[in-house]
Amino acid sequence: MATNGEDNQNQVSRHQEVGHKSLLQSDALYQYILETSVYPKEPEPMKELREVTAKHPWNIMTTSADEGQFLNMLLKLINAKNTMEIGVYTGYSLLATALALPDDGKILAMDINRENYELGLPVIEKAGVAHKIDFREGPALPLLDQLIADEKNHGSYDFIFVDADKDNYINYHKRLIDLVKVGGVIGYDNTLWNGSVVAPPDAPLRKYVRYYRDFVLELNKALAADPRIEICMLPVGDGITLCRRIK
Ligand code: SAM
Ligand code: CA
Repeated sequence: MATNGEDNQNQVSRHQEVGHKSLLQSDALYQYILETSVYPKEPEPMKELREVTAKHPWNIMTTSADEGQFLNMLLKLINAKNTMEIGVYTGYSLLATALALPDDGKILAMDINRENYELGLPVIEKAGVAHKIDFREGPALPLLDQLIADEKNHGSYDFIFVDADKDNYINYHKRLIDLVKVGGVIGYDNTLWNGSVVAPPDAPLRKYVRYYRDFVLELNKALAADPRIEICMLPVGDGITLCRRIK
């Protein structure tokens, strides 16, 4: 029989307990991916940060462990060095990024909430990667406008991860397309929006899901029609659309 300690351990490692929405056929299949290829390879600091985040009331916002693994691999594959993240929360995707970058790599990280970032910061510091992070507290849009105002920032980012207010993604895209380099990648997260992108009009959706759905639908159409990028929508996490700038 499992002890209390083991029960707690199982709760932290089962994805349902942190509220992740699998887009796969079954929870069992998702659990299989986690247990077979994600958890056995998850770096210790990421595991620790996942456990810290699981205790926070808004833990449904965190990046899932399989998506963290995907981002980490992607950043290494494209040899990313100069990166940006919009929407940090406690820093799981940020840590996945920081661990993937070379020692002189950089992440400009933005969030309106510093408190949640500071929850994860001790783990990031212990992992020895905090020096790569330049955290800015505040809404991302004015910060992006400041960056755009300086010509030297244009085409300077290898990778940008967008995981914040979905109603602003189109506004972010208008700016990010100039900031990412040609050949660089922007990743827009949650583009399948809990599966609601295909829900019938009368489907019983949670209020926030319904509210943001139209913005996500509009973004997905705009990205598919944008001649400056190649795209690939992946059913990882809640859906991530990778956009590779081609001109
Ligand atoms: N990437 C994070 C992770 O791996 O845990 C999750 C990010 S969470 C889904 C969304 C975050 O966006 C929240 O922390 C929220 O404070 C932040 N946010 C919301 N509106 C924002 C804005 N206008 N500018 C910057 N950050 C914002
Ligand atoms: Ca997300």
